[in-house]
Amino acid sequence: MDPAFILPDPDDDDAAPFWQATARGELRAQSCSGCGRRRIPPRPMCPACRSLEHTWELLFGRGSIWSYVVAHPPLLPAYQALAPYNVVTVALDDDPGLRLVGNLVASPEGAINEIDPATIRIGEPVRVVFQQVGDVYLPRWMRA
Ligand SMILES: [Zn+2]
Repeated sequence: MDPAFILPDPDDDDAAPFWQATARGELRAQSCSGCGRRRIPPRPMCPACRSLEHTWELLFGRGSIWSYVVAHPPLLPAYQALAPYNVVTVALDDDPGLRLVGNLVASPEGAINEIDPATIRIGEPVRVVFQQVGDVYLPRWMRA
């Protein structure tokens, strides 16, 4: 993937454990020590009970496409070259309230425009895969 893409900061105070897990091939979510609610993206406080304590729970890494869009120009230059491409929101089987945004790809290292957007269906089962881009291992989705 082109380094001109916008990447998350793997050393971010709240999200570093998430990115350390993806580097190991694991998908993890914060799990509140006060009420047990899981949350993604990482943040310091539980939105339900305001606890600052949490653990990092290992997730199964499977889910279904909850929604998606097909990106078209105008886009940032690195993305414009790949348009049209998909951006999917995946509801995780572990907890359908947990949703991650990513791309549906045909292989872990695949391009984000290699799936024909006309073939994508809401509810399709998917599984997580990871692609190393610089210092970050990005979660992506393949059809399960
Ligand atoms: Zn809580």
